[in-house]
Amino acid sequence: MPPVPLPLRPELEGLLPYGAPQLDVPVRLNVNENPYPLADDVVADIAADVAVAARDLNRYPDRDFLALREDLAAYLAGEAGVRLAPEQLWAANGSNEVMLHLLQAFGGPGRTALSFAPTYSMYPEYARDTSTAWVAGRREADFTLDPTVAAAAIAAHAPSVVLLASPNNPTGTMLPVETIKAVLAAAALVPGGCVVVVDEAYGEFRRAGVPSALELLAQYPQLAVSRTMSKAFGLAGARVGYLAASSELIDALRVVRLPYHLSGVTQAVARAALRHAPALMAQVGSLRDERDACVAWLRERGLTVADTDANFVLFGTFDDRHAIWQGLLDAGVLIREVGPDGWLRVSIGTPDEMTAFKDALVEVAQL
Ligand SMILES: *Cc1c(COP(=O)(O)O)cnc(C)c1O
Repeated sequence: MPPVPLPLRPELEGLLPYGAPQLDVPVRLNVNENPYPLADDVVADIAADVAVAARDLNRYPDRDFLALREDLAAYLAGEAGVRLAPEQLWAANGSNEVMLHLLQAFGGPGRTALSFAPTYSMYPEYARDTSTAWVAGRREADFTLDPTVAAAAIAAHAPSVVLLASPNNPTGTMLPVETIKAVLAAAALVPGGCVVVVDEAYGEFRRAGVPSALELLAQYPQLAVSRTMSKAFGLAGARVGYLAASSELIDALRVVRLPYHLSGVTQAVARAALRHAPALMAQVGSLRDERDACVAWLRERGLTVADTDANFVLFGTFDDRHAIWQGLLDAGVLIREVGPDGWLRVSIGTPDEMTAFKDALVEVAQL
């Protein structure tokens, strides 16, 4: 039979699905997960609530999930000291899906999304998938964002969406409030409007005294702050991301979401887990300490390390980073080959996992 042509969108021609290698090795430090499994009492509580939800699975779930949104608002009030109404929260299957909702509502053909590289490699994919033009401005050599450069890029490209990760992935760089305010001021001048998304996927790992962009929400109706339960919260497998913004902005996302996008099981898992937030986040402090120790250790051995407020460290530079990555993998340690050429990223694991990483790196890179 002759091959039947598939009418693939030309911009998808030859592309492969995105994703970090999922390899079954002893030490997995490649996708910034919380390395600590859930405690038995948390597991039992989640399982009990899932059993209750299972009885109702003949019905569609609550498509507005206000109970979960209320719980998320309560969590943020405790974590960041900012009290929001449940109508100011949104959630989806990972913050990846929240971002897609944002681009579906505020991007689209003839519009532009802007970010500053190096940054999260999924951002250009959300733009591509929603037929939104993609522009990547530049960060400085130390991966900070110059507010003047950012404002000029916004004026030049008139984006309808600006995406800023803070702390940034893969560099770990936190944006000062002044920089976010400069971006918001420039965005306010874009004809037709511009939504500024601050992606705080790693927000809980920020150093003491560093504020969250959530504190700016009351003053800036075009601001959206995205969070996730995948990282500090230790619930990557549940796929729950969320967003805080003005209720007007959230209402626009409700238009583009698929009906019943958040399953009854997902809602039950998320709500049960949120009741155990302190237990699930108990290791965040020690992960931060382990991160700072890892940065110091790498610098002592003469490597260049980006300042980081996240649960990972970007370090280098290596003439052949792939050889280092492969050598670590051969020793049973999986890290990530990502970011500018020559750099590698390691997620912070348990103390034993960090020892395995350091021992392997000393061998492979002859430190
Ligand atoms: C991991 C990560 C996310 C979270 O993705 P989920 O879909 O919520 O698991 C979002 N933004 C950045 C920058 C990330 O690194």
